[in-house]
Amino acid sequence: MSEQLNPFKVAQAQFDEAAEILGLDQAMRDLLRWPRREYQFTIPVKMDNGTSKVFHGYRVQYNDARGPNKGGIRWHPDETIDTVRALSAWMTWKCSVVDIPLGGGKGGITCDPKMLSDGEKERLARGWVRMVARELGKHRDVPAPDVYTTPQIMAWMLDEFETIVGRSHPAVITGKPLALGGSKGRTDATARGGIYTVREASKLLGLNPKGTFAIQGFGNAGQHAAVLHPAILGGGTLVAVSDTSGAIYNPAGIDAAEIIAFKKQTGKIKNFPGAKAITNDELLALNVDVLYPAALENVITEANAAKINANIVCELANGPTTPAADKIMYAKGIHVIPDFLANAGGVTVSYFEQVQNTYNYYWSLEEVCSRLDRKMTEAYHNVYRMHLDKKVHMRLAAYLVAVQRVAEAVKLRGWV
Ligand code: GLU
Repeated sequence: MSEQLNPFKVAQAQFDEAAEILGLDQAMRDLLRWPRREYQFTIPVKMDNGTSKVFHGYRVQYNDARGPNKGGIRWHPDETIDTVRALSAWMTWKCSVVDIPLGGGKGGITCDPKMLSDGEKERLARGWVRMVARELGKHRDVPAPDVYTTPQIMAWMLDEFETIVGRSHPAVITGKPLALGGSKGRTDATARGGIYTVREASKLLGLNPKGTFAIQGFGNAGQHAAVLHPAILGGGTLVAVSDTSGAIYNPAGIDAAEIIAFKKQTGKIKNFPGAKAITNDELLALNVDVLYPAALENVITEANAAKINANIVCELANGPTTPAADKIMYAKGIHVIPDFLANAGGVTVSYFEQVQNTYNYYWSLEEVCSRLDRKMTEAYHNVYRMHLDKKVHMRLAAYLVAVQRVAEAVKLRGWV
């Protein structure tokens, strides 16, 4: 039988395994393995050429027992209700594992943002908000950026929402530009938080934090990881990078600032001077100290997990590893820092952004980073302890910590 790659089925299978170990009763399992509420809608957009095009949009509110639904909006050609459901489940576990008072949600639009002009993007962003505005608000559901959505898109969405409700409401959306109530440190928070966990893992496992690293996926998280890994760990050589155009390798090191500038200029990393072209599979199999999957789901699967040679896999992407691959890497002794722990820095600073919006008082970058460091370090050690206590791989340990907290909130509310 071929491996299950539907992200929502994967998310449910991961949850089921944790629920079994935690001994959750049947009603609790039935509740927590499904979203509580979902919206699917059409968004008609006037295109630049005078025609109208209809896009499909989604918002899934997975669980709000611990606080308002929270999670980004992804714009991607392969977006479906099931990718959004999976991502909303992972958001629920993510907010719980770092112990912030938020639930989980996710949104999306099936589209290819690379084919849209700025004007079309703005109309699409405003159209998405018009369809879900009645559901949004700092006490209900708070969107944010995800793959292919930007602070500018958050700015248009904020403006549309505030126009509809007729008042200022900056905490309705996070990942905003600084000029509209964004938080310092939000743009690179996902990568920064992940690297804090790599630092902790390296200490506990006695690994060399200043060794080599490779990045699969070169969007927001990947680019910031290229710069912040050596900055936070005090060293480290970036030897390989990939994006949708291919992968490149240079054992002597790839300069982070240069590859970022090259990508900005040409739109891709392919043909970066001085580096050799390799395949994506070759990048994943490199013998590096840290591998950062930083793009999309189902990158490390049953088919290639045995070839992974990194000491640490720090998942900045959501859902990059399948359950079968988890088992293979665990048996190989690879230390996987699982997605909803490793990439929780983004939503943690989103939460800080909401706190600052609510106080209407803004923190310095140092304040944001030191609070983020405390949250990530504590969450990493909680999961690591669970992994030792229960003798389970790190993802399952993260599920045990996160699901237990959500289940407790559900119980206290008397839902089941
Ligand atoms: N999209 C990011 C994630 O998957 C951030 C979510 C947020 O800030 O609400 O964690």
